[in-house]
Amino acid sequence: VVNEAEEEHIFRSRFPPVDLPDDVTLPEFVLAGAEAYADNVALVEAAPGGRSYTYGEVVRDVARFARALRLGIMSAGAVFSGVNPRAIAAEIKKQVEDSEAKLVVTNEVAYDKVKDAGVPVISIGDDMERLPGAISWDELLAAANRAGAPVVALDPVQQSDLCALPYSSGTTGVSKGVMLSHRNLVSNLCSSMFAVGEELVGQVVTLGLMPFFHIYGITGICCSTLRHKGTVVVMDRFDLRTFLGALVTHRVMFAPIVPPVMLAMVKSPVADEFDLSDLALKSVMTAAAPLAPDLLAAFEKKFPGVQVEEAYGLTEHSCITLTHAAGDDPWQQGPVQIAKKNSVGFILPNLEVKFVDPDTGRSLPKNTPGEICVRSQAVMQGYYRKKEETERTIDAKGWLHTGDVGYIDDDGDVFIVDRIKELIKYKGFQVAPAELEAILLSHPSVEDAAVFGLPDEEAGEVPVSCVVRRRGSSESEADIMAYVAGRVASYKKLRQLQFVDVIPKSVSGKILRRQLRDEFVNRTK
Ligand code: ATP
Repeated sequence: VVNEAEEEHIFRSRFPPVDLPDDVTLPEFVLAGAEAYADNVALVEAAPGGRSYTYGEVVRDVARFARALRLGIMSAGAVFSGVNPRAIAAEIKKQVEDSEAKLVVTNEVAYDKVKDAGVPVISIGDDMERLPGAISWDELLAAANRAGAPVVALDPVQQSDLCALPYSSGTTGVSKGVMLSHRNLVSNLCSSMFAVGEELVGQVVTLGLMPFFHIYGITGICCSTLRHKGTVVVMDRFDLRTFLGALVTHRVMFAPIVPPVMLAMVKSPVADEFDLSDLALKSVMTAAAPLAPDLLAAFEKKFPGVQVEEAYGLTEHSCITLTHAAGDDPWQQGPVQIAKKNSVGFILPNLEVKFVDPDTGRSLPKNTPGEICVRSQAVMQGYYRKKEETERTIDAKGWLHTGDVGYIDDDGDVFIVDRIKELIKYKGFQVAPAELEAILLSHPSVEDAAVFGLPDEEAGEVPVSCVVRRRGSSESEADIMAYVAGRVASYKKLRQLQFVDVIPKSVSGKILRRQLRDEFVNRTK
């Protein structure tokens, strides 16, 4: 704990700082040393018979693409803004326009949706005749090879040279382009991989379930695995059978997931179709949304020996910020528990973190919940073309205000309370949906649950819930509300509860509360 002159409570990692390489682009950093692993598989499609790419092929195609475009994405100074291929044409067009993209790279699956976005389209696909107007990826790379044009060199990389522009999903507001520099991403990778030992280089098989247009997929899966010359098993969407099949056939060792995937692994009867007794799986990372303690316990029971690493991060901080993964090599010596269960972990090296009272702006001591603020070289350059939002999020001293409430305990483990915007304000009390959802999920008849606030004249807001009931269970709405009421202070009691078929969630596993609230209100009209 460091008390600066201004009496701020600033917390740092319990681990020593790590060195950052200077002047390196993200691709240089990630693919450094790839020649020695040229025949190792870098990327493989999870589906049976899927295509695979060796490190040799990845390095070759990255260089060819850079030559072909004379700008090439990332490798030659362009900025990559991933798009969800399941977005509709209008959403894609909006992102193309907002980001001022100069071209789109796609494949046959999404071609029809991007062809009218107003910029040239390069398509990766075998049957180019079906894609009138598209530039063929294969032909482009082959031509680049023939021409033998020189690779475009980047000037020495500055802290602010942009590399990626992922769009936040907009679950709590309007979707924004997050400007991340090469330095931001390299810095986050150095901090988050500080404990990965040399002996793991070339060894780890990671499941690439989280999409590569989201920061979790970009940094937490793709770049970190390639940096260590492991293999990413790429899935193009979540489907429990394909997921479990990939764990078995590809001998996956590390599976970064989100809580809804863990819920499916634990609760779905599909899991019984697989022999999960002989997995190579050593570790599962869960991040992006709150993990209910009962779900963690049920997972540990079903998958004994698999280390669960909870982590916390956000796009604006280039990905991981707090994590469990550390030191003594859970991969080879069996599970180790570094941070406490149900905490999101400890502060990564090179970061400063403080917890701020949102009303007074003052930093708070240990064990006192406040808005999590972080300062490091991984803090974004800002929101693209959104100066005011940027100034609201990063203050004059460089602190990124995350919008999440949490606290740090005496041992330096951090606990998340909830997102500020999602806290329900009942007569001046704050109710955290995550706490009530965790209680609901501990009920044997509850398969999934979401809690949110409804406006109320007298109380301001009241907590209500949507619940997916387990098949065959007979509890009523009132029974489940009573179960929660018996476990919380009276101001946190659920005032209404509706049974639903499914809880809508974003690709990063976040509950879509605005949608649920609208549906809830419509049903009660
Ligand atoms: P938007 O702000 O538009 O909803 P987003 O959902 O795309 O954007 P992300 O960067 O994907 O934003 O998510 C970051 C947020 O995810 C964090 O601010 C936090 O609220 C939540 N989060 C991440 N990890 C955890 C965790 N381990 N436990 C609880 N919440 C988490």
